[in-house]
Amino acid sequence: MKKIGKNHILLVVVLVLVLIVSQGIIAFAAVYVWDRDAVDSGGHLDWDGDTKYTDEVSFAVDLWNGHRPGTIRPDSLTVIEDVWVEDMNVTGGSYGTTTIPSGGGHGTIRLNSYYFDDTFTEDNRNKTTAHEFGHALGLDENNSGVSAIMRQGKYSYSSLHQDDKDSFDDAATRY
Ligand SMILES: [Zn+2]
Repeated sequence: MKKIGKNHILLVVVLVLVLIVSQGIIAFAAVYVWDRDAVDSGGHLDWDGDTKYTDEVSFAVDLWNGHRPGTIRPDSLTVIEDVWVEDMNVTGGSYGTTTIPSGGGHGTIRLNSYYFDDTFTEDNRNKTTAHEFGHALGLDENNSGVSAIMRQGKYSYSSLHQDDKDSFDDAATRY
């Protein structure tokens, strides 16, 4: 009977692992996290604002809360606001912006009506608003080419990509 050497067994194991990885059988989590967020120490993002895009904000809140329930809440008299949402009208500017001081803290989301009211579809408005809330939650741009909410640009994605979920979970370890 032929003996199989240890080196041969090792070679087979390595080849099988290479095959598994190359075929995408094991999917590695891709995490895109910003160096800051507007979430408070209680793990909530309490929002308030003066925006006409309330339907879009509701979409964004429901989308992210669908993965981590109760994270984003409307501001109330008894809680301190973490992020303010307002509209801007900037010709040729960004679709939306989110500003947060370095180290984290109170954030401001601005939605650009120059696009929202003109070339954008409802799906484009929803995706962009959810994208900006993603930044407030501590997520960074995801420009790997996948259909993620955190991908920059005019898209109509209406659900969280696995990258969005993994990035949200990773960012939440800081809250
Ligand atoms: Zn962005």
